Amino acid sequence: MIFIITGPSGCGKTTLVKRVLAEIKDVQFAVSHTTRKKRRSEEEGKDYYFISKAEFKQMIQEERLAEWAVVHGSYYGTSRIEIEKKGMQGDLLLDIDVQGAQQMMERYKKAIFIFVVPPSSKELERRLKKRGDESPDSIKGRLESAQKEIRCYHQFGYIVINDELDHAALELKSIILSTRSRFESRKKELVPILRGFSEDL
Ligand code: ADP
Ligand code: 5GP
Repeated sequence: MIFIITGPSGCGKTTLVKRVLAEIKDVQFAVSHTTRKKRRSEEEGKDYYFISKAEFKQMIQEERLAEWAVVHGSYYGTSRIEIEKKGMQGDLLLDIDVQGAQQMMERYKKAIFIFVVPPSSKELERRLKKRGDESPDSIKGRLESAQKEIRCYHQFGYIVINDELDHAALELKSIILSTRSRFESRKKELVPILRGFSEDL
């Protein structure tokens, strides 16, 4: 199953996704392409594929992206190959912005869409400042975008309020694990069990 995790910048998507990846087996992360500069804490190919604007534009032209958007002045996108390759291996998490999530709604109708919200706008501002990666101007831009993005909450099937981290991570893990219990996801494991009871099942 594909899980699209979205929400305003600074709400805690990356933190939550890292928790899920560490705590649930057989979950993969879809590494995005971006034209933004690498942060010191980030690793090429693990956090993002860092590419030039020209390379990104070529990917758009060649229709190699499942979705893409300009977010806070940089290009971000998920390649089709990333989804095809990793999606085959089990559950796949995408951490993308709201515009990208809306594109995915059109193209991957069966995916699970999760909107992460901070407990308040003040706390969002505090988290963006605390992270310390952005200039004051960039933080201002992210807060302005958040005002627009938050209005899209009703388009998402699941909402995770990221107030207390442990609880929010538990909610996200619960969404993923409960999806695994759906009949369609369980079919492969279920059939041999049923056959053990009766050949005609
Ligand atoms: P996003 O990926 O949505 O932009 P991050 O995961 O980078 O957001 O989180 C932004 C900042 O907020 C980081 O410094 C992170 O450690 C912090 N953070 C995330 N979740 C919580 C939480 N529940 N409580 C307090 N701080 C948090
Ligand atoms: P950051 O620069 O803080 O890592 O990410 C900024 C925003 O870009 C976040 O909201 C993040 O979810 C989003 N983002 C990351 N990868 C992608 C992607 O592949 N596509 C889209 N549309 N947004 C992305």
